[in-house]
Amino acid sequence: MSTDDTTSAGILEQLRRQSADPRRRILFTGATIVTMDPELGILHDSDLLVEGDAIAAIGPNLASGASGASGASGASGASGASGAAEGVAGAVVVDASGTILAPGFVDTHRHAWEAQLRRIMPDVDDLGGYVMSTLAGYATVYRPQDMYVGTRLAALTAIDSGITTMLDFSHNSRTREHSDAAIEALRDTGIRGVHASMGPHFGEWDRQWPADLTRLKDQYFSSDDQLLTLRMATLATDEIAGPVLAYGPELARTAADLGIGVSVDAVFGKASSAAVLSWAEHGILGPDVTLIHATGLTSEAWKAMGESGTTVALAPTSDAQIGLETAIPAVDEALAVGIRPGLSIDVEVALASDMFTQMRALLAIQRMRAVNAAYGTGGDLSRITTHDVLDFATLQGARTNGLGDVTGSLTPGKKADLLVVQAEDLNNMPLNDPIGTLVLGSDARNITGVLVGGQPRKWNGQVLDVDLAALRSEVSASRTYVLNTPAG
Ligand SMILES: [Zn+2]
Repeated sequence: MSTDDTTSAGILEQLRRQSADPRRRILFTGATIVTMDPELGILHDSDLLVEGDAIAAIGPNLASGASGASGASGASGASGASGAAEGVAGAVVVDASGTILAPGFVDTHRHAWEAQLRRIMPDVDDLGGYVMSTLAGYATVYRPQDMYVGTRLAALTAIDSGITTMLDFSHNSRTREHSDAAIEALRDTGIRGVHASMGPHFGEWDRQWPADLTRLKDQYFSSDDQLLTLRMATLATDEIAGPVLAYGPELARTAADLGIGVSVDAVFGKASSAAVLSWAEHGILGPDVTLIHATGLTSEAWKAMGESGTTVALAPTSDAQIGLETAIPAVDEALAVGIRPGLSIDVEVALASDMFTQMRALLAIQRMRAVNAAYGTGGDLSRITTHDVLDFATLQGARTNGLGDVTGSLTPGKKADLLVVQAEDLNNMPLNDPIGTLVLGSDARNITGVLVGGQPRKWNGQVLDVDLAALRSEVSASRTYVLNTPAG
């Protein structure tokens, strides 16, 4: 083992030198490991071994081969404690004492192209206000390079705050080149990106969608083992943008032919409830379909979603702050029919960019509802926990994005998408409860290390491979162009 060089910068250099080696090994030692794997739970004073792009083993004293290690089975080679001891030979060792290792967060829905417009309407009135200014306004003048700038900025910011997987609901695909730019932006950041492609709502566009999905799949998503995956993005009804973008049997067939999942946005209220029932009748709900928001749906719609194993992406802050239908994130409704939802950021034009905000907002809103409903009645409380919202933000998000076997928990055999969180920083010391520290105590400043597929993307508190000054001038130039060009 190369333990001689223990400075962070030195370790990063070693990791970088090995980055192309498919057998490279990193051993994190002495950490509190919040696996979010239901079987592994939380391990104290333990080690985690990364080999290549995957997690090879987790357990105490991996270097000495002590018992209790949980190793990967199958093709990766290491299995159990003895295999792990062998596997650590040549590993770059990272002293992780005083830290929590946790799975990277998974965002199940964000419109990344809007990032250079972030917080431009912090007090937006309602959905109509957002739609008219953004989708009917700014979106119509976006060039491919604006798609690239916004999407890259969103993905880098996601990595900085510990989101290792981001579903980009890219609904401004005005031309092929707009789609290319959004995909290349994800690729250039090294995030585990899900490009969910949809045509735009308003203005002139090439009408290349959804046919262009076939080209995109061939050109960018041909491997089963790559960071980027493809989904179809679509809307619940034709109320906002007409029938072209509305989910139904025809789009479902296109997605099935391509072997990709479907993420459906703007699922709320009576019209969407009726749509959900018709999708159930057509047999086009299921685990490969994600319904986003799901506010104000009827109990019949929820029943159909639960019975079909359909996934749900909640957007707690946009539901509440923009006021979508009932404005109440539908976590109780989902849990009642057996659906554990993922969480999502949605639009940065009016909302925070990070997953901590989503977890805390959902926790506070649900517990407020539960206590309020029982207040003065002596009735039972049914409250979600910090563990629940962390599960939603990690493992359930991965499942929702169709990546449940790939990421979302620290499990031997899964990809090494993990966070190094400082548990003894000013705002977190002393470490009393690791889940509490992650959900309620931490923020982006405490995440000093982020690995995606075993590659460092943030180290020593800095997002890697970003020239901030150059980024700032690109973002500013794009923002100026978009704001000063009359809507088409
Ligand atoms: Zn959305």
